[in-house]
Amino acid sequence: GINPLNLVAIEVVADADARILPLTPGLADDLFEHDGQITKREIRATTLSALSPRRGELLWDIGAGSGSVAIEWMLADVSLRAVAIEANSERAARIGRNAGAFGVPGLEIVEGRAPEALAGLDSPDAIFIGGGGSDDGVLAAAVDALKPGGRLVANAVTLEMEALLLAAYRERGGDLIRIAVSRAASVGSMNGWRPAMPVTQWSWVK
Ligand code: SAH
Repeated sequence: GINPLNLVAIEVVADADARILPLTPGLADDLFEHDGQITKREIRATTLSALSPRRGELLWDIGAGSGSVAIEWMLADVSLRAVAIEANSERAARIGRNAGAFGVPGLEIVEGRAPEALAGLDSPDAIFIGGGGSDDGVLAAAVDALKPGGRLVANAVTLEMEALLLAAYRERGGDLIRIAVSRAASVGSMNGWRPAMPVTQWSWVK
């Protein structure tokens, strides 16, 4: 028979190339399938910090691109829900693949253009505008839809979008920050700073 005391300890060793997800937001860009339109790691970490997920909350990720922000929101806790709104159909399909690969199949994907596509969605506790913010009425619709006490975070790389965020900051307050990340890269046999486009971020509590 089987000796119940004959226990064997099996040591589990991670593959060197296994996909092991750290628990902190700001996951490597390469973990996501993307076409270049992705909120880069350092900016994404700062964005998640400003979105400040709390248990049970719902996020709208407007102009979700690869879905990276909504996915990191959902990874923070099993109780969190998110809706990714994306106008481009190829990207909307990609968001679904990323959600599956990250183990958050509950991510709701709305293929459509904000603000029209926002109609009928449950009111959110937090909203991220990563794209489409300069379209007519998206920022205003987000301010309207947000629950009292909710957080709105909007990122701008264009001057036009930045101008809208400056106007919103002057009207409503909150925080306006500018994030400029440079990465060391080779310059011949030496290294130099390669700057990414600076991102202006407005965050506001309703
Ligand atoms: N935060 C994303 C990147 C956003 S790129 C990520 O990390 O992957 C901006 C996205 O906004 C693009 O995919 C673009 O198709 C989308 N977009 C632009 N205007 C929009 C609108 N009005 N409604 C919905 N999506 C929009």
